[in-house]
Amino acid sequence: MKGRGAKRLETLAVHAGNPIDPTTGAVTQPIHLSTTFERDADGSYPRGYIYTRTDNPNRRALETSLAALEGGAAAAAFASGSAASAAVLRSLKPGDHVVAPLDMYHGTRKLLLEVMAPWGLGVSFADTGDLGALEAALTAQTRLVWLETPSNPLLQLADIQAVADLAKSRGVLLACDNTWATPASQRPLALGADLVLHATTKYLSGHSDVLGGAVVFAREDTVFERVRLLQTTEGAVPSPFDAWLTLRGVRTLPYRMRGHSENALRVARFLERHPRVAAVHYPGLESHPQHALAARQMALPGGMLSVEVRGGAEAAMGVAAKVRVFTRATSLGGVESLIEHRASVEGPDSKTPPGLLRLSVGLEHPDDLVADLEEALG
Ligand SMILES: *Cc1c(COP(=O)(O)O)cnc(C)c1O
Repeated sequence: MKGRGAKRLETLAVHAGNPIDPTTGAVTQPIHLSTTFERDADGSYPRGYIYTRTDNPNRRALETSLAALEGGAAAAAFASGSAASAAVLRSLKPGDHVVAPLDMYHGTRKLLLEVMAPWGLGVSFADTGDLGALEAALTAQTRLVWLETPSNPLLQLADIQAVADLAKSRGVLLACDNTWATPASQRPLALGADLVLHATTKYLSGHSDVLGGAVVFAREDTVFERVRLLQTTEGAVPSPFDAWLTLRGVRTLPYRMRGHSENALRVARFLERHPRVAAVHYPGLESHPQHALAARQMALPGGMLSVEVRGGAEAAMGVAAKVRVFTRATSLGGVESLIEHRASVEGPDSKTPPGLLRLSVGLEHPDDLVADLEEALG
């Protein structure tokens, strides 16, 4: 890294994994499309790269950056957040048991139930915001606790440090999906988690234009080695361009997250007072049941919130039909604001309240966002 002792998040976001190119002096790393790298006459690879599935300069740069931002020892980048989650789960063995949150990203829940359970992984769901309920779900076979905080789509929190203490006392690994909070808000490894998951598709890349995922490791231990093996032998890796584009987004993460949080708080406060609104779920609101935990654990409340409209699915769909600045679309974390009727995306087994709309609050002017919602609710 350029400069000495640069350790703060904004500085790491700009510089980690972004050295000056030694051959040209380029300030931004070139994209290395080459799939293969030259060997020396003695058969060695003195520059450290062999074949791009195994390692690539752009992927390594992204991994260096993400490890630095999360305060981890190493990172492994994947072609999607789901590929990263799958690699962590398959680093376990058939017969092992995992406890996951009741409210979680529906794709990870589907992965657990429809892919990992048939493979032989035992899976239970518990309210990870309730330490007693979580402890009761642990069995002699439990190897991993999976956290997602804030949760999707109800914005429920889990106390990472308390769960980490429990997991440690039982010899169980703790993985935390930090996609929604990002390291600009919370750093699970510093609170005792062993692994951090990211859908870099969302805030880390930040512009809704690249799919990706990553696992960040507290230590280069056997779990790290197993996930690295799955990454490099199965090859669910990001392309050099995907890695480069993701890293370009990461450079501005700390500043974008401030804007997302500021705008989301404005929108949440407006919605909370609106007569057609039954509930607003946002950790930045004093009315959030875990607001004190949010203040302790999260440096920023983030850009995601959900709102329950009075009148159920029909009323909620009616609001989503009328917005003009918000776009009706799934996903989150981009500069543009998105709105989504969550239950209909999650399908018939969804547990999400029918009147719930999930908002990814973008970086437009907050007055325009509030005016848009005011008109749509009007
Ligand atoms: C989107 C998302 C994922 C999955 O990421 P993909 O890149 O879509 O596979 C996992 N966890 C959370 C919290 C997400 O929002």
